[in-house]
Amino acid sequence: FGPSDGVLVANDLRKEFGGLTAMDDLSFAVQEQEILGFIGPNGAGKSTTFNCVTGFYGPTGGNVWFKGEDVTGLESHEMVQKGMARTFQDFAPLSDRTVVRNVALSLAPDELLTLAGVSGETERLAEEICRRVGLGDQLEETPGELPHAGMLKLEIAKAIATNPDLMLVDEPFAGLSSGEVQELTEVLLSLRDNGMTLIVVDHNMRGLLNLIDRAFVIQFGAKIAEGPPDEITDDPKVQEAYLGG
Ligand code: ADP
Ligand code: MG
Repeated sequence: FGPSDGVLVANDLRKEFGGLTAMDDLSFAVQEQEILGFIGPNGAGKSTTFNCVTGFYGPTGGNVWFKGEDVTGLESHEMVQKGMARTFQDFAPLSDRTVVRNVALSLAPDELLTLAGVSGETERLAEEICRRVGLGDQLEETPGELPHAGMLKLEIAKAIATNPDLMLVDEPFAGLSSGEVQELTEVLLSLRDNGMTLIVVDHNMRGLLNLIDRAFVIQFGAKIAEGPPDEITDDPKVQEAYLGG
């Protein structure tokens, strides 16, 4: 793969932790306004890939191109400036701020430092983002008062607030009911319909089937299968990764 093969391109991306190879020369490309499902069993290297793509870890080898530019090894705040956002599996909102204030601070981090607090315009935009993810009725609650699904929505709202072209979403459906999965699926689809590109991680592919355009399945840090979501579950390598071994 090369720089112009997609909005995000990873080529031979590698990450070693001591003697453990978490990402084993992984290559993939994501096209504009595509939703790529990044699937694999626990420990497969999904979060490590997100960390290396978004600048939280430096890869041991390989390249990352974003919108045609080599961004390999840049810091996470530089990736955000370039239009990349991510959510965390273990998220940590500011527990003493309201939901809308948490989103406002992602919109305008500098305002965190001012005594006056966030501006009216920032507050208004933050409310709008909260409504987009279905948190319109919980603006003034603290994160701790939200149900689990609300925390996941808040994490997505904070990522939207950085105005990304690409959003990497780590296990958004963990612990959700099927109704909540459907609701969040619609939120993510609407982001895509408004021009965003998404990579969504899950260890369980069934939850992603109504969301993704393409599945990319990894195990032991390497690709084992790739294809349309309704076909990938029949792939023998995928079945073996999940049932055998
Ligand atoms: P997944 O998100 O697919 O469940 P991870 O990317 O979290 O998998 O982990 C892949 C492998 O890398 C695992 O064996 C994990 O223990 C290891 N690993 C992940 N992060 C670190 C780290 N910071 N230090 C050492 N090993 C790590
Ligand atoms: Mg993970």
